[in-house]
Amino acid sequence: MLYFYFIFNFKKIFNKFNIMKLINSEKLYQRSVKTLVGGVNSPVRAFKSVGGNPLFIESANGTFIKDVDGNEYVDYVLSYGPMIIGHVHPQVQEFVVKTLEKGYSFGATSENEAILAELVCSAFPTMDKIRFVNSGTEAVMSAIRLARAFSGKNKIIKFSGCYHGHTDALLVEAGSGLATLSMPGSGGVTQASVQDTLIAKYNDIASVEKLIQEHEGIGAIFLEPIAGNMGVVVPTKAFIEGLNRIRKQHNILIVADEVMTGFRSCFGGAQELLGLETDITCLGKVIGGGFPVGAYGARAEIMDRVSPLGDMYQAGTLSGNPVAMAGGIATLTVVKEENPYAFFNDYAQKLSEGMLGFAKEKGVPLQVNRFGSMMNPFFSENPIQNYEDAKKCDTQKFASFFWKMLEGGMYLPPSQFEAWFLNTQLNDATLNKTLEVFKNSI
Ligand SMILES: *Cc1c(COP(=O)(O)O)cnc(C)c1O
Repeated sequence: MLYFYFIFNFKKIFNKFNIMKLINSEKLYQRSVKTLVGGVNSPVRAFKSVGGNPLFIESANGTFIKDVDGNEYVDYVLSYGPMIIGHVHPQVQEFVVKTLEKGYSFGATSENEAILAELVCSAFPTMDKIRFVNSGTEAVMSAIRLARAFSGKNKIIKFSGCYHGHTDALLVEAGSGLATLSMPGSGGVTQASVQDTLIAKYNDIASVEKLIQEHEGIGAIFLEPIAGNMGVVVPTKAFIEGLNRIRKQHNILIVADEVMTGFRSCFGGAQELLGLETDITCLGKVIGGGFPVGAYGARAEIMDRVSPLGDMYQAGTLSGNPVAMAGGIATLTVVKEENPYAFFNDYAQKLSEGMLGFAKEKGVPLQVNRFGSMMNPFFSENPIQNYEDAKKCDTQKFASFFWKMLEGGMYLPPSQFEAWFLNTQLNDATLNKTLEVFKNSI
């Protein structure tokens, strides 16, 4: 049975590749799938929405990633964001190894924690103090508790299509239209844990105002300042201004989930570029440079509610791990020195204009959304401004496009709804190669 399954899948994959070998990946997948759920430790890695089985990675260096069959790709996944200066950067490598040699974990504060805290707080004017945790999910989960403790109100608003990690209260999708009573978006999430979560529509300030009129006790609005988990969706000016107005008028906290956007479009948060006024900020991804780090921060008045100073309890055995902090410190130091944001913008602009040009030539409907070092193409005739727009994209077309791009040496996120990420080690050669492969794939 397994044997036939193997042959079937192998043929399916082999048909997709004339030149490329994926034999070792396939073998490792067949082995892993017996003991790892779906052969992966995070569902986005499973290639489910593009068909076929995931690649297994051997190593990565600079802007390239290599699979276990020796195929090398330009990496536009970058571990879903963190590797902003490319893989195994010499400065990061040196500092991490030096730190590692002094011990792995102490259960006590070390200097690295203070250094990274200063680096991050200095880049976010809205953050006097910060608490490090181990993932973006943990940061958001803690921010919910803090927002409730500080505001004294339980209800929170989130936007459909925004992802905030897998914490119960935000694992909710809006039903059709604007459901006021939200339905859990996952097995095991109880009605009770989402009963205080209200769903609004991204880029639609009227949908937020409606919820505020209909419900008492709304303490906070959670959002991705640039949405990146329905594909990249940029907020309109009116949406940002509306949120700023609501924050003041109704005394509602704005929680910026910058786990993806933090340090991706400027040295700091997208909130500053956009003029979004915020109260609590969540971080992850880039601030660990590839190591497990998350964080939440705010002005002192809010953060002083967190234990040991305040009554909001939150803790972590490995929080602020010195080696993970070292990865973050070195990464942010390089980013600060290089100030790559003009380069990112230029690269993204050239790539997006090139792609739109080729798509037009071939008569393929395409939209490219981008902001800083995040971008992605949507197979759609219409502009993508929210989740409802994004869901109308041709995911079938994306799937075959994905495999063609892979065959040409481009490692893209295996979903129409994941952002492509840029790193500082891309150059004209990778740009031209990407466009050439795009032209053939489209
Ligand atoms: C990735 C992400 C998270 C979750 O972070 P994890 O480290 O995967 O737990 C939360 N919010 C946003 C906006 C993200 O992109």
